[in-house]
Amino acid sequence: MFDVVVIGGGVIGGLILRKLSSYELKICLLEKSNDVCMGQSKANSGIVHAGFDAKPNSLKAKFNVLGNKMMKEVTSELGVKFINNGSLVVAFSDDEMKTLEDLLERGRTNGVPDMEIIGREELVRLEPKVSDSALGALYAKTGGIVCPYELTIAAIGNAMDNGAELKTDFEVTRISKKGDNFIVYSQDGETVETRYIINCAGYGAQKVAGLIGDDSFTIGGRKGEYILLDRESGGFVSHTLFFTPTEKGKGILVSNTVDGNVLLGPTAEEVPENDTATSADGLQSVINKAREMCKDVPLYNTITSFAGVRSYCDRHDFIIEKSAVDDKFINCVGIESPGLTSSPAIAEYVVDKLIGSDEELVKKESFNPYRKPDYFFKNLSVEEKNGIIKNDKTYGKIICRCEQITEGEIIRAIKENPPAKNVDAVKRRTRAGMGRCQGGFCQPYVAEIIARETGIPFEKVTKSGKGSELVIGVTK
Ligand SMILES: Cc1cc2nc3c(=O)[nH]c(=O)nc-3n(C[C@H](O)[C@H](O)[C@H](O)COP(=O)(O)OP(=O)(O)OC[C@H]3O[C@@H](n4cnc5c(N)ncnc54)[C@H](O)[C@@H]3O)c2cc1C
Repeated sequence: MFDVVVIGGGVIGGLILRKLSSYELKICLLEKSNDVCMGQSKANSGIVHAGFDAKPNSLKAKFNVLGNKMMKEVTSELGVKFINNGSLVVAFSDDEMKTLEDLLERGRTNGVPDMEIIGREELVRLEPKVSDSALGALYAKTGGIVCPYELTIAAIGNAMDNGAELKTDFEVTRISKKGDNFIVYSQDGETVETRYIINCAGYGAQKVAGLIGDDSFTIGGRKGEYILLDRESGGFVSHTLFFTPTEKGKGILVSNTVDGNVLLGPTAEEVPENDTATSADGLQSVINKAREMCKDVPLYNTITSFAGVRSYCDRHDFIIEKSAVDDKFINCVGIESPGLTSSPAIAEYVVDKLIGSDEELVKKESFNPYRKPDYFFKNLSVEEKNGIIKNDKTYGKIICRCEQITEGEIIRAIKENPPAKNVDAVKRRTRAGMGRCQGGFCQPYVAEIIARETGIPFEKVTKSGKGSELVIGVTK
C-alpha cells in the first residue's frame, strides 16, 4: 500500500516525487513508457523563463517566477547543468518596441527582477549576429537554460535513491475505490493501492482524470518542431533570443543549449493527437524565422530535428488542484510552457500545501538531496581520468566518439536510478549518440552493452521501448 502514487514520469511528476521522498511517505511513480521523461519534458526548448510573459495573477506567472528563483539550487543539488545566460525579446518595429514596454510592466507586476529595455547598439554588443533590422530588446537577466531530460531523470533518480519506487510500462487504464483508498490498474491488470493520486500525465491527463469521473477540463495538443545544430556552432549566440510574443505564444527562438549546441524553434501547430513527427513545412518555417532573427545562421551544422507536443488545457492556465470528484486525487495538468521552469515550485506547492493541508508530513532524517552529475568523465583532468581508469578499465574505452562517452558511463546509466533499459534511455543519460553522427557509430555497441549488463537478449534490445527492436534476428 502506498501513501501517494504519482501518474506520469515527466518533469512535473519527477519533481513532485522528489519532494515527496523528503518525507516519511511510501510513494510510487507510474509511467506508461519504457523509460521516464517520454512526453513533452523530453522535447522542449529548455528555457528557464524569467516570468515577464505570463498573465499577472495566473498560476503560470506565480510558479514561473518562483521556479526561476529555485532552479539554481535544485540543479546544483541534482548535478544538472544550468546556465543563467539571460534572455532578449527582440523588437523589429516601433509597435514591437511598445510591446516591450508592456512586457517590462507585466514582468514588474509578476515580480521579475533585473529587466531593462536596451537599444540597438547595446543589443548588437550583446549579440553581434542579430539581424540588421532589429531595433532593440527587452533584456531579462534572470532567464536561463537547463537540460529538461537531465533534470527530470535526475529528480526521479534522486527520489528513488531516497526510497521512491518506479514502475515503467505501467499505463494507468482503470482506477477504482476500496474504502478510502484507490486501486490503480495497469493495461496488464497489475494493481497498486494508494491513499492519494497525483495526476501528472501530461497529454494523457484528461483520460486519467476521466477514470475517476472528473471531466472538469479538456487537454489539447500544440506541436513544436525544432532544428538542432552541432556543438561546432556553439557560441553563435550567447543569450536566448525571442521574437515579441503573440496570441499563439512565444514564437521561434534562437538559443544555445547547456551542452553547447544551438537550438532553433519551436513552431506552434494544433494537432489532434500526440503526433511528434517533423514536417518539411514546419522545419522550413523554423529556418525562415531563425534567418529573420539572426544573420549567417550556420544551418550547414544541422545534426537533427525533432518535435514536442505542448499539452494545454481549456482553462488557459495550469490546473493544480484537488479534484472536485475526490479530494485525494490531485490534478497537475495543462502544464504547458513555462512548466519546466515552474516545476520545482509546483512540486513544493503540491506536496507542502495540497497534501500538507490534510496530512502531518514528517521530514525524512535520512533524505539526501544530492546526486552525482550523470556525464562527468570528459570534464575531468587527465590525472583524475587516469585515477578512475585505474580502478575501472571500462572508463578507458570510448564508445561514443562524437561526444567522448565511455563504456563506464554507459554501464553506470544502466545500473543507477532510474535504470536505462533501451538505447535512447542511455542516450538521454550519457549523451552517447547525441553528437554529429547521431549514434550511427555507437548505437550497436550501446545495444550490446545493454544486453550484456541486463541479460536482455540482443534481439530484444530496443531503441525506445516495445516495437522499436533494433534487429529482427540472426542472419548468419
Ligand atoms: C515544444 C515545447 C516547448 C517548451 N518549451 C519550454 C521552455 O522552454 N521552458 C519551459 O519552462 N517549459 C517549456 N515547455 C513546457 C514543458 O515542457 C512542460 O510544461 C513540461 O514538460 C510538462 O511536464 P509534465 O510532467 O506535466 O508532462 P510530460 O512531460 O508530458 O509527462 C507526462 C508523462 O505521463 C505519462 N503518461 C501519460 N498517460 C499515462 C498513463 N495513462 N499512465 C501512466 N503514464 C502516463 C507520459 O508517458 C509522460 O511521460 C515546452 C513544451 C513544449 C512541448
